Amino acid sequence: MPGTENYDMLVIGSGEAGKYLGWTMASEGHRTAVVERQLIGGSCPNIACLPSKNIIHSAKVRSLAGRAAEFGVDAGPVTTSMKGVQDRKRAMVDGLRRLHLDRYRASGAELIMGHARFTAFGADASEHMAAVQVAMMARMPYTALRDGIFAHPTVAEGLTALLGSPPVSPLQ
Ligand SMILES: Cc1cc2nc3c(=O)[nH]c(=O)nc-3n(C[C@H](O)[C@H](O)[C@H](O)COP(=O)(O)OP(=O)(O)OC[C@H]3O[C@@H](n4cnc5c(N)ncnc54)[C@H](O)[C@@H]3O)c2cc1C
Repeated sequence: MPGTENYDMLVIGSGEAGKYLGWTMASEGHRTAVVERQLIGGSCPNIACLPSKNIIHSAKVRSLAGRAAEFGVDAGPVTTSMKGVQDRKRAMVDGLRRLHLDRYRASGAELIMGHARFTAFGADASEHMAAVQVAMMARMPYTALRDGIFAHPTVAEGLTALLGSPPVSPLQ
């Protein structure tokens, strides 16, 4: 099909789940793209874990500064600039975005900004999905999926390799 690009691995979403998968697969030599519609690196570095801790840290500093006299410290009148709090948080988030872009460059994974959607499932795709679902129900780890399915040219061959290996906890 004209204008069609082929990838070994296409990851939807560059959050905690997607980015490490994308970087790992690309580093292993698979042509990989990660499609992200908004937040480079997902929620954690942009709007969740890290920004929330950054702002909580400002609140702790403000609280301690307000109690400075208790500790024998003369800090003078303490005021809070919410702009300063926001600017500090934004600088951290910007730095994290740059770090993520560096990881994309270093691993070779392509970052495509846009909203991903499935337009059709071919026969091959549904066969792969069935195999992936079987593997997930058997609680097989990602490495078993990778070695048993993605690394094998045919689904039949992949399933034989996959189901021939003993189930392992995904946490191992
Ligand atoms: C306030 C807050 C604080 C938190 N603090 C912690 C903490 O301290 N420790 C901790 O372990 N966890 C924390 N979490 C939870 C943590 O943020 C999530 O568990 C984690 O981000 C989930 O990762 P994910 O990859 O599943 O999803 P996300 O990080 O949300 O990534 C999904 C990505 O997919 C993209 N996407 C979705 N659909 C499409 C599409 N169709 N096309 C293209 N892109 C798409 C989204 O834009 C997004 O970037 C916190 C969450 C919140 C809200």
